[in-house]
Amino acid sequence: NQDEDKLTEYMDELEFLAFTAGATVQKRFTQKLTQPDSKTFIGSGKAQEIKEYVKENEIGTVIFDDELSPSQLKNLEKEIEVKILDRTNLILDIFAQRAQTSYARTQVELAQYQYLLPRLTRMWTHLERQKGGIGMRGPGETEIETDRRIIRDRISLLKDKLKTIDKQMATQRNNRGKVVRAALVGYTNVGKSTLMNALSKSDVFAENKLFATLDTTVRKVVIGNLPFLLTDTVGFIRKLPTQLVESFKSTLDEVREADLLIHVVDISHESFEDHIESVNNTLMEINAHQKPMIMVFNKIDDFSYDKKDEDDLTPSTKKNISLEEWQNTWMGKSKYPTVFISALTKENFPEMKRMIYDEVMKIHISRFPYND
Ligand code: GDP
Repeated sequence: NQDEDKLTEYMDELEFLAFTAGATVQKRFTQKLTQPDSKTFIGSGKAQEIKEYVKENEIGTVIFDDELSPSQLKNLEKEIEVKILDRTNLILDIFAQRAQTSYARTQVELAQYQYLLPRLTRMWTHLERQKGGIGMRGPGETEIETDRRIIRDRISLLKDKLKTIDKQMATQRNNRGKVVRAALVGYTNVGKSTLMNALSKSDVFAENKLFATLDTTVRKVVIGNLPFLLTDTVGFIRKLPTQLVESFKSTLDEVREADLLIHVVDISHESFEDHIESVNNTLMEINAHQKPMIMVFNKIDDFSYDKKDEDDLTPSTKKNISLEEWQNTWMGKSKYPTVFISALTKENFPEMKRMIYDEVMKIHISRFPYND
């Protein structure tokens, strides 16, 4: 049953991704196999079932939660006779829609070409078979080679372009000098931008969609006369396409080069524990897991206790849980300084600010050791 809960959560998230991309989900299908079918991922019986539904209801797209192999994608398109997207494709699509600066657009374009390249051959092989083969082989092969060469050239061009901007950004980071740098990290949609706005009194785009933030924003924040820089970073997500992890290198560099990480968690989300793990995994991947960190559990205004069964929280404390009570839960007992807030109502903001101040001050002092 726990598996089923997980499955529903995964599907909820996929539906949210689809919604962010601008689609409306009509129906969900699930399939349980001991291992994915190598040809169609879901098996041809399930593919038929989906095909019938798609036909009857004039559905335009079928979205899969996992990354499909190039041949699975082709086979499914042939069997279901409709546009097939996998999770990677969907996320790339959202990123493409949301990229605002030329840097983000370059990153997304690179990721898209990297996704496309291994899928190109199969596309052509498939067409060739349709054309009947004889006589087509020569020109076909040449065309694939030409297309591949064009894409490879484009990829190296984009990489060069990013390298140049990366250097500029690195210089900019260096020029920020000795000021302490903190980075907001966290799963997508947990409230990082909202918190950024609240702390810096700026106006960063916050929206109830996934990946509202693609470009990093850096703001100067002052708490109790202590200035530091705060960066809002792209939200992490379960199964972030590898092409994206790589091409968002500079975005992640902000995290890698930060002195302090502020890990924001949406406590009102039923899978917030998975989200924490997923973020920690990404931090590990980019080798940023040993940095000083503050855990900020956000959206306590929206927390409803029945979703979880915490044995150290009694149901009577469901509403208006005091900070002391929060600190006594397992979450409050992590090895990191931890605070429970609402970025919306600003509950417990003084405590959070004090915590950030303390951590920033520690780093500040370690840099300027005025020992008598
Ligand atoms: P980000 O993707 O992590 O930057 O998240 P955003 O700052 O864009 O916020 C995502 C959604 O959560 C928005 O609709 C916010 O209004 C909402 N949100 C942020 N903080 C809170 C909070 O403390 N309580 C509630 N109820 N909603 C919040």
